Amino acid sequence: MDTEASSLTSQPSFRSRALATEAVHAGRDDLASQGLHAAPIDLSTTYPSYDSRDEAARIDAFAATGARPDGPPVYARLDNPTTARFETALARLEGAGSAVAFASGMAALTAVLLARASPGLRHVVAVRPLYGCSDHLLGAGLLGTEVTWTDPAGIAEAIRPDTGLVMVETPANPTLAEIDIRAVAHSCGSVPLLVDNTFATPVLQRPLEHGARIVLHSATKYLGGHGDVMGGVVACDEEFAAVLRQVRFATGGVLHPMAGYLLLRGLSTLPVRIRAASASAAELARRLSADPRVARVHYPEVGGAMVSFEVFGDPHGIIAAVRLITPAVSLGSVDTLIQHPASISHRIVGEGDRKAAGVGDRLLRMSVGLEDVEDLWADLCQALSGGSPVAPARSGGAAGTSATLPGGPPVPPSAGRTAGQEPRPAGR
Ligand code: PLP
Repeated sequence: MDTEASSLTSQPSFRSRALATEAVHAGRDDLASQGLHAAPIDLSTTYPSYDSRDEAARIDAFAATGARPDGPPVYARLDNPTTARFETALARLEGAGSAVAFASGMAALTAVLLARASPGLRHVVAVRPLYGCSDHLLGAGLLGTEVTWTDPAGIAEAIRPDTGLVMVETPANPTLAEIDIRAVAHSCGSVPLLVDNTFATPVLQRPLEHGARIVLHSATKYLGGHGDVMGGVVACDEEFAAVLRQVRFATGGVLHPMAGYLLLRGLSTLPVRIRAASASAAELARRLSADPRVARVHYPEVGGAMVSFEVFGDPHGIIAAVRLITPAVSLGSVDTLIQHPASISHRIVGEGDRKAAGVGDRLLRMSVGLEDVEDLWADLCQALSGGSPVAPARSGGAAGTSATLPGGPPVPPSAGRTAGQEPRPAGR
């Protein structure tokens, strides 16, 4: 049997290893000693045992503590060794004590909300914008939670005795608005701060180092990285992870082991993919900022591979006109995707709330992939011209002198992050 499940807690700490090294080795440290190179995929849904008393004891231990079972998992909804490798690796990358994987990002958020609400802490404080379905899950109260929407400055005031969670996304989907995690964590006091780190990934930002207590990812995006696996993951301390495992066991939103394998594999190239795509995204942001057909460009200080921009013309025409860029929702794949948030990713949010959060009808969100930046620019240029071929302005013209940044009118590039700058190093 794959021994990762039983070796998790006994492994030595590798905290001193650099992020790029962790990305390749974390969750795989036992492989060589087993004579393996690629991680084994354990597809078992059940685990035979001739000792029912021993199984009963392991079930009791899980019910009492939520700790990963010592020995075989009994049943795949309880634990899986391949998924556990991904959890180990992601926890190391985020600098977390633990991580718990789910079938999707929404399943992960559901588990967090249920875990916090079950002891009576039903109230959530959240800052818009959030991904459209996260907004909907909170706003519709589907899980019996109640939300107070506020801006970062209003968090402390919005917290009540029954507040179980503060939730933010930074950079936020789809405006790429950023939040000072340390300042917000301070405002939360003893209430745990959840940061959705899907857009930045631990390569660019590690929220736990700034005071967040819970980090959530739609692993469907950059962690997988190839648009072919759906998953979610929560990085946190072991105490909360134990509760999440119990919720996952009871509600069943487990990650399939094949997805666990693909996500572990995706992590190994995460730093390289993020840095390459970020460089192209920064360059495209710089060129778009100088383009007279573009009203405003959003590109975050932290960097990353997402660029959002507002156009003077018809955004639907641009979606219809792209040829190399894929017109599709989602993000974080090797190919560049573009979508119209008001029509798709944030359609489920009421128009008034959507617009108040900065998600206007002329906003397009682009997830920059690994194609050559000149090919991407050529496609964007022809699409911005309504599909008629134009000579792309390869140099970007006056780029860097008239950038427009999130949250304000045109400003000189020195006032914020614009094109050409490398993403900030992740550190360790
Ligand atoms: N968080 C963010 C920032 C997202 O963009 C998404 C999906 O787009 C989710 C969470 C939900 O993830 P999933 O689609 O894997 O359920």
